[in-house]
Amino acid sequence: MSELESVIRRLEDLDHRITPSRVAVIAAVLAHSGHFSVEDIVRQARAVGRATVFRTMRLLTDIDVVCRVLLEDGSLHYRVSRRGHHHHLVCVSCGNVQDLDECAVGGLVRELAAATEYEIEGHWLEFYGRCAACRGAVPVGARR
Ligand SMILES: [Zn+2]
Ligand SMILES: [Zn+2]
Ligand SMILES: [Zn+2]
Repeated sequence: MSELESVIRRLEDLDHRITPSRVAVIAAVLAHSGHFSVEDIVRQARAVGRATVFRTMRLLTDIDVVCRVLLEDGSLHYRVSRRGHHHHLVCVSCGNVQDLDECAVGGLVRELAAATEYEIEGHWLEFYGRCAACRGAVPVGARR
């Protein structure tokens, strides 16, 4: 089964209607290996109305087909995601984004909930920096 078919299967399992527009948006999304904006998808899926693109992106976010990445300049991008809740390392120099395996702030969320009596429903955490390639990183042992 292709990735496109498996996403369509998941939507069907969740009782979402599969339309040619939705399939066009999903295909455009899956063609990306890096991060992209909703505007990129609007441009690529030309036959699909903007509102449908936005609604479909929302749906794909909800079912964890894509994750959202907040870039350092404040723009919101998306990435194909193969895991559930996670955070990112974002290189501010080349724009490379790396998924982090786990959420490290579960303890903080529980403490906050206890201290504030909030029922915490979500959080957002990205790390910004410069990747090894952009730092021209030399192995530590070879440095003078
Ligand atoms: Zn991600
Ligand atoms: Zn970089
Ligand atoms: Zn988290």
